[in-house]
Parts: sequence; C-alpha cells; structure tokens
Amino acid sequence: MSIDRQILKDLVADKTRLIFNTDIPKEYLSDALGRRKGTADALIFPLSTEEISDVLRYACENRIPVTPRGAGTNLVASTVPVKGGIILDFSRMNRVLELDEDSMTLTVEPGILLQDVQTYVEARGFFYPPDPGEKASSIGGNISTNAGGMRAVKYGVTRDYVRGLEVVLADGTILRLGGKQVKDASGLSLKHLLIGSEGTLGLISKCMLRLLPKPETSVSVLVPYPDLNTGLRSVLRILRANANPTAVEFMERKVVALGEDFSGLRYPRPDAGSYILLTFDGYRSEVEFNTARVRGLALENGALDYIVLTDPAQAAEIWKVRGALVKAVEAVSEQEPVDIVVPISHTVDFIRFINDLEVSSGMRMISFGHAGDGNVHLCVVRGERDEDRWRRELHANMDSAYAKAYSLGGVASGEHGIGLSKRRYFLRETAAENLAVMNEIKDALDPLHILNDQKSYIEGGKDHAESF
Ligand SMILES: Cc1cc2nc3c(=O)[nH]c(=O)nc-3n(C[C@H](O)[C@H](O)[C@H](O)COP(=O)(O)OP(=O)(O)OC[C@H]3O[C@@H](n4cnc5c(N)ncnc54)[C@H](O)[C@@H]3O)c2cc1C
Repeated sequence: MSIDRQILKDLVADKTRLIFNTDIPKEYLSDALGRRKGTADALIFPLSTEEISDVLRYACENRIPVTPRGAGTNLVASTVPVKGGIILDFSRMNRVLELDEDSMTLTVEPGILLQDVQTYVEARGFFYPPDPGEKASSIGGNISTNAGGMRAVKYGVTRDYVRGLEVVLADGTILRLGGKQVKDASGLSLKHLLIGSEGTLGLISKCMLRLLPKPETSVSVLVPYPDLNTGLRSVLRILRANANPTAVEFMERKVVALGEDFSGLRYPRPDAGSYILLTFDGYRSEVEFNTARVRGLALENGALDYIVLTDPAQAAEIWKVRGALVKAVEAVSEQEPVDIVVPISHTVDFIRFINDLEVSSGMRMISFGHAGDGNVHLCVVRGERDEDRWRRELHANMDSAYAKAYSLGGVASGEHGIGLSKRRYFLRETAAENLAVMNEIKDALDPLHILNDQKSYIEGGKDHAESF
C-alpha cells in the first residue's frame, strides 16, 4: 500500500519534520557502512510518543513498512529500509526528561546521544557505564541493540542499565515497562524482550536509565606481549585474580599499526606482536592496589612490559587509536566487520582458527576486541577483489568462521546485532525451536510485520539477506 502524503502531513504538524521520497537524504537509507541502501516513501522526525503512536496506527491500518532509526551507526544494515514505507528517525527526541538523584535514574528521550548522557551525568557526580565505541550513537539505538562496549567486563551491557521503557507497539498501543523500583518479579519482563530486539517488536519512545555513583578515579595500562595468544592467556589469569578491571581490550600489532597511520599517533613498544589495554576504576587506593597486582601477573605470564598511563594525554592517545581501529581498516580497504563472541576460555582457540583461515584462504583478517568478554571484532579485508569474488570468498570463509564460533559455544553477535548482514549465519546456526518462538513473539506483537521486517530472526525475506 502506498502512503497518503496528506494524511502524514496532518499527523506531523511541523512540515520540516516530514520529507518525502526523492528528497530523503541518502544517509537515511543506510547504516554506518553505507553500502546497502533501501528506498523509502517518507522520513519522519517525531517529537512525541503520541506522534509516534499516530504514525504507527496509520502505518498498521495500511500495512505500510516502518524502519526505526536512532543515529544510524549500526554496522549490520538494520536501518536499511528494505521494504520502502516510512523511516521514523528519533534524532530530534533528544531531551533529558528527569534526573532522580535518590533513585539514581535518568529518564531521557530515545534520540539523545550516548556522549551527551555521559557528559550530563558525569558533571553531576553520576556514571552511566555502557560504553560502546561509537559515542555518537543514540540511547534508543543502544537499547535496541543491547550495545556492549569497553566496560562490559566489569559493568555488564546496556540491558543491565535499563530500568524502564516506554514503548509504542506496531498498532500504536503505548506500553510503560519497568520503573524506578530496583527489583521486579511481576509477570513476564516485556522490557527485557524489547531490549536488543532491533526495532522489530516496538519503538522505544522513553528510556529510564540506571546510574551509578561516578568512580573516584580511573587508570589505563598498556601491556605489550610477544604475540596474541600469550596476551589472551594472560587475560584469563588477570580475570581470575579478582582485580576487577573495567576494560580489557586486545589488539594485534598489525591493526595497531593501521590505527597509528590513520591517527598519526604512536604506541610504545612497536616490537610487540599484540597489546592488552586495561583500565581500572574505583577508589584511588583500590585502583593503585589492583594496578600493582596485575603488573606482577602480566609479567609472570609473558608480558614484555607494563606501561601505566599516568599521563592523561598519553592515555587519551592510546584510547584514541583503539577507538579508530574500524575506521583505520576502512581507510585501507572495504572490510566486513564481524562481531562474534565466544566463551572467554575459547578466545585463543577462535583466534587461532581465524589465523589459520587467513593463511589458507589468502583473505586478510584483522582481529581486535574485548578480551575480557570473548567478543572478537574481526575485520575481513576486501583488498583488490571484484564484487563477485569478494562476496563468494567472504561467504565461504565466514560460513566456516561462524560454524567454528558456534561449535565453541559462541554466537553470531556480541553487541552489533544481526540486522541483515548476519542473518545468513544466525539463521543457519540457531536452533529451529528457538527461531520458531522468536517468530511467534513477532507475530503476537506485530502480526502484520510492519516493523523492521526481514531483519534479524524474522522468517521470510531470505532473498534480501542473500542479495546483500
Ligand atoms: C566506529 C564504530 C564503533 C562501534 N563500536 C561499538 C561497540 O563497541 N559496541 C557496540 O555495541 N556497538 C558498536 N557500534 C555499533 C553501533 O554504534 C551500535 O549498534 C549502536 O547501539 C547503534 O545505535 P544507533 O543510535 O546508531 O542506532 P541505529 O543504528 O540507528 O539503529 C540500530 C537498531 O536499533 C533500532 N532502533 C534505533 N532506535 C530505536 C528506537 N527508538 N526504537 C526501536 N528501535 C530503534 C534500529 O531500527 C536498528 O535496528 C559501533 C559502530 C561504529 C560505527
């Protein structure tokens, strides 16, 4: 069914918040990578829950597809409007609604950026722990992907910091889920069902976030190792030692070199084969104690050095290179970002498998990621391959990489979500019974499949997934 422009004009009062068809800027038809583009009849920037509800009611009655969009920083094509229709972009719903210092909650609109939430709460002595690499992502997008990031090893992921949600279902019904209470054993948790659902079950129109008191201090340490395996094995010892690191990132030297060239900054100990980058936070005495304790453990377990980054400028530079790794690889060649997560006990096995695959396939694969939680970010590099060869070889290699990850007890995505890009692997590796239940839930909440259809677990749309 095509859209009725006049009805949308009546529903969206301010005409600057409604764009039709060919006037829609191209970046709204894609994700952060910009390779996969869809088409849409209308782009709407809602300002209120009621407006979202009105648009959804109209879309539902007329079977018009709706693609929700936060800041569009996803890497899995989950904001590509594959079926046309309406894009609902939340970027203008970006206000802080309430800081409740006693219950330590912050209520915000979904389009507010993570970096703005972090700045806002830290200026008031609070701390919002989820810290995905892309700080210009929106809170609504973070919740819809259950974003992870650097601090997950100590603090957990976005799911652990959502106290309440306001959600608009496909037919326009408004649900209020969770709240300021700490505990909840009352019925099914619809809030947790919505978290990580990639815009397929309902649209998030308000978010109540759980805050912590801001840690007194935080110190990072760069630990060079001769090779990645030694570094990753050492991480297992560090995690078991109860030193409570906030972040434990691993990087191969070859990707750091790309990051250095890209940013114009340099890491110490360029003779290393890999680095582990740690952060400790908390009270000063506790941080000093843990930093000193881990020094001994790291050096006993093969570290070449243990560089405590006491100079904030140097620490910022080291983290800047880490934060720029995806962009650094992209500057050299198109690449496919992979976000596989395996049990931490198998990170070494998985990386070894990837290193062997790289040699046998001749396709460059660069790995870095969150050593503390087994989340491996692989960049599979296209190089000079033409489109056909790139697709063919990528799929063949990734078919075996995902199969290996699942055989080790892992899953397709630790934090980026499935979107379109990972469907092929996710649908193949996930138990049919689990997929069937997910699809029954979709059918119950969005029986006409208007919300972000053909993404993630949703059956049908195989052609779309394969053609990308
Ligand atoms: C350089 C770089 C580094 C990154 N590092 C990390 C990382 O460390 N950890 C990590 O987890 N991710 C990372 N990402 C991926 C991305 O930033 C996250 O997935 C982020 O959570 C997406 O937020 P967004 O606002 O951009 O959402 P979008 O990309 O706009 O949307 C993501 C999904 O959420 C849905 N959605 C958005 N808003 C709503 C809403 N209000 N209601 C319902 N559905 C909605 C969309 O339909 C889509 O399915 C990185 C991306 C880049 C480019």
